[in-house]
Amino acid sequence: MRVEVDTAAVAANTRALRALVDVPVCGVVKADGYGHGAVRSALAMLEGGASMLGVVDLREALALRRAGIDAPLLAWLHGASADFSLAVAHDIQVAVSSMAQLEAAAAAGATIHLKLDTGLGRNGIARGDRAAAIARAVELARGGARIRGIMSHLAGTGRDADLAQVADFAAALQLAEPLGSPVRHLANSQGALALSEARFDLVRIGMAAYGIDPNGPAAGDGAGAAALGLVPAMRVTARFVDGVAEGGLDDGLLPAIGAPVAVAGELAHVVAIGARRLRIEPALSGEGVLWGDPAAERPEPSADAWAAAAGTIGYEVVTRMAAAERSDEAAPADPALAPRRVLELGLDGEPQRLLGEVIGVKRAEAGLGISYGAEYTTERETTLALVALGYADGLTRSATGRPVLLGGEAHPIRGRVAMDQVVLDIGDCRANVGDEAALAHASAPELTGMIGARVAVELAGTVPDTEAMEALGASIGGQLRAGDAVLLIGPLGAGKTTLTRGIGAALGARGTVQSPTFVLARTHRTAAGPDLQHVDAYRLLADAEDEAELDDLDLDLDGAITVAEWGAPLEHALESWLRVEIARPSVDDADDIDDIDAVDESPRSVRITGHGPAWGTERVRALARAGHRDPLHPAGPGAPGPVRSNGSPGDDGTERR
Ligand SMILES: *Cc1c(COP(=O)(O)O)cnc(C)c1O
Repeated sequence: MRVEVDTAAVAANTRALRALVDVPVCGVVKADGYGHGAVRSALAMLEGGASMLGVVDLREALALRRAGIDAPLLAWLHGASADFSLAVAHDIQVAVSSMAQLEAAAAAGATIHLKLDTGLGRNGIARGDRAAAIARAVELARGGARIRGIMSHLAGTGRDADLAQVADFAAALQLAEPLGSPVRHLANSQGALALSEARFDLVRIGMAAYGIDPNGPAAGDGAGAAALGLVPAMRVTARFVDGVAEGGLDDGLLPAIGAPVAVAGELAHVVAIGARRLRIEPALSGEGVLWGDPAAERPEPSADAWAAAAGTIGYEVVTRMAAAERSDEAAPADPALAPRRVLELGLDGEPQRLLGEVIGVKRAEAGLGISYGAEYTTERETTLALVALGYADGLTRSATGRPVLLGGEAHPIRGRVAMDQVVLDIGDCRANVGDEAALAHASAPELTGMIGARVAVELAGTVPDTEAMEALGASIGGQLRAGDAVLLIGPLGAGKTTLTRGIGAALGARGTVQSPTFVLARTHRTAAGPDLQHVDAYRLLADAEDEAELDDLDLDLDGAITVAEWGAPLEHALESWLRVEIARPSVDDADDIDDIDAVDESPRSVRITGHGPAWGTERVRALARAGHRDPLHPAGPGAPGPVRSNGSPGDDGTERR
């Protein structure tokens, strides 16, 4: 399967839209540019006359800055641990959706847009908090805070409801008069095109710039976009041999049974989609177009047609293609930059849960429509919790109504699933910003298709006994290369040394791997590769910032493989590390015993997370796959023992790409 993006089309679309709306355009490139590639889409939009770029979180904004884009940037969705000083350092404007975010952003000295809820029931300061938030913003502005804009977002529920939002926004602007003349912006693609009243000083254009009708398939198979002269920028093709092509759910395709596919000018239809393959009938051979430009000389199916067959909208179909572009460089989670979005795999690699975080909690009035199209309305005054997971993260739009576990309670997703967030109506339950939310009862095959490019992978599971702990160490060891660091976290007697022994076995380490407590660091030569440095970093705990202490250990962090027990303090000294947390759920820490290899055989719970550029999503995933093979106990006769793979996850042929 191949995803082509015509950036010239994005530029031309933006130019056409800019002329049509006649106000400045903020080009929206969130979720990797709706699957088109954020950087190339951003550059194309700027070329087409966009004067600003919009993304959801600071991580997306930073990726644009790192690519050398110096245009004004606005980020409007923040996790509980967002570090607004990074926004200041990189000249990123931030929209705030709560009093707490307003205070934090102002304290950091950020350039701020107030994001108000005018009827979408999602991100944005609640109506009930509006007056107080604006008053506080005025106060902060007098003290020197930079309040640059006021914004809201339309629900696209219908002309009347949208106009009611326009009126509500205008009323809010009156309240905000003491702020002077902030940039006022409300409309997305659909609102900007349909309602001149909604354009104000700036419109935020996403979907239309990618050439897809923001009104979706219901409005006529992309005809709306074509009528405006917009050209779809994405083209997805696959080589069919007797009706079968490579490409499937794992590549981000939705199960669109019945969707048209054009093969060399002939039309076929999808009859089956598996994880990696796709089948059409009639069983044609040749280059097939899954979706492209319906107005091309030789017409191609539209993304909307694929969407219609999958029961969704073009937005979701194209956005999921970011998964096809997913690379080993996928950045691991960093709470300072983006909300927590995690696919949790078992130690055997089987998907377990999709985890997100609560990014907003607000009281809402009765009768508030929730999310686009207001398909759910609050029945009474209630509390809404916003969870930062959306269809860009693989939580399909069809997940509306599915239960999300929050603080031990299951709450159904209310209203439509958006690209980056879902809303829970939690009634009078309590929730806090930063709370973990988990999509419950999801089957493993379903979760496999869920992972989006912004989602970090973590491994978690139970290790029943010492032997299994050593085997886990061996599977980790088999994936390590020079310069890697593994930090082991866990109480005395958790099994850190046992795990290290497994790592040593996989590396062919000479000498006995034993607790480094008394020597602080011990170096083992290995069979053929880099040395294994086994460190006890406990003493560094007292003074984590003390570089001299660290220097005393004289570690070779670049040339050797470092495994550090009590390793947390080393995080300050490393760019990348693998963190392995071991806990003894059934044992009270008061029962601690000095001998780490004592007979305590209670099961351990383990969580493995990658941090920094060396530990991207695919590499963490590969650990689970390696674990599944259990290198200490190879499958059949003749199977290789604990051999080095030189760290290349592709060596064993299990790598997918
Ligand atoms: C995604 C988004 C947009 C762009 O929406 P389109 O419908 O793609 O034009 C604009 N504003 C906000 C706040 C958004 O989240």
